[in-house]
Amino acid sequence: MDGPVYRFAPSPNGDLHPGHALSAFLNQEAAHRTGGRLLVRIEDIDGERSRPVFVQRILDDLDWLGVPYERPVRRQSEHLAAYRAALDRLNALGLTYPSFASRAAVKAAIAEAEARTGVPWPRDPDGAPVYPGLDRDLDPAVAAGRMAAGEPHALRLRMDRAAMLAGPLAWTELGAGPDGRTGRIPADPRAWGDVVVARKDAPASYHLAVVVDDADQGVTEVIRGQDLFFATAVQRLLQALLGLPEPVYRHHRLILGDDGRKLSKSAGSTSLRALRDAGASPADIRRMVGL
Ligand code: GLU
Repeated sequence: MDGPVYRFAPSPNGDLHPGHALSAFLNQEAAHRTGGRLLVRIEDIDGERSRPVFVQRILDDLDWLGVPYERPVRRQSEHLAAYRAALDRLNALGLTYPSFASRAAVKAAIAEAEARTGVPWPRDPDGAPVYPGLDRDLDPAVAAGRMAAGEPHALRLRMDRAAMLAGPLAWTELGAGPDGRTGRIPADPRAWGDVVVARKDAPASYHLAVVVDDADQGVTEVIRGQDLFFATAVQRLLQALLGLPEPVYRHHRLILGDDGRKLSKSAGSTSLRALRDAGASPADIRRMVGL
C-alpha cells in the first residue's frame, strides 16, 4: 500500500501569513513522521481574487520556511475538465440548477422575506445568509434557453435532494472543531443550503474543486485550519455523490491577529514576507505559531 498523502492548498489571492505557516508546518511534520508525501495545490479558480504573481511568492515563502514539497505543483486552473466531468455527473443525477440571480437580487429577496416574516433569515455555519432558492423551480426548458443564450449563471446543488440521496454522512476528525468535537463527526450539509458547485466564471466552485483534487491527487489526510471544519460536511456530501474516497481530516487551531480575528490574506494581515523583512527567521515563525 502507498503511504499517506498530505497537501497544502493555498489560494493565490495574497501573501501567506502565520496561519498558513502553521498549516504548512503541520503538514510537513505529518509527512515526515509517517514517511508520507506532501503536495502543494494552488487554488486559483476564483477569477476575481486570484493573482498569478502570488503563486511564485507563495512557493518562495514555503522554500524560505523550509517546507519541502513534491513537484509538480497542481494548479486548479489547469484541471477544469476534471471539474466539468464531476459537474456532468451531478447534473445527470438531477442535483443541480442554474441560478441567474445577481447578488443584489439575492440580497433583496432575503430583505423582503425578513421584512415580511419579522424573522431573521437563516445563516450558514460561516454566518452568510443561506441562498433563498431563486431560480430553483424555473421551468427546465426556460432555464436551458437562458443558458443557451449565454446568460451568466452559477450552478447550485439541490441540497435537499442531494442530502437525501447520499443518506447520513460523517467524517473522521483527528484534530478538533472550533467547538472541540473530535472523532467521528456527523456531517450536516443541509446547514449550507443550495451551495454553488460552479461559479459564474468557472466550471467549478471551491467545494467541488477541492473534492475532485483531493481524490485525483490521492490525498489521504487533509490538515487545514478550523475555519474549514464545518465546510467538511459539504465536501463529504460531494465525495459521496461523486463516488470519491473519503480522506481523514485534521483541523487545527487558527492563528488570531491582535484584534482576536482570524488572519486572512484578504484582510491584509501581516504576511510572512513582512515578518521576514522585519528580521524574523523561520524559527521565529515556528515559535510565533506555537510550535
Ligand atoms: N484554498 C483554501 C484556503 O486557502 C484551503 C482549502 C483547503 O485546505 O481545503 O483557505
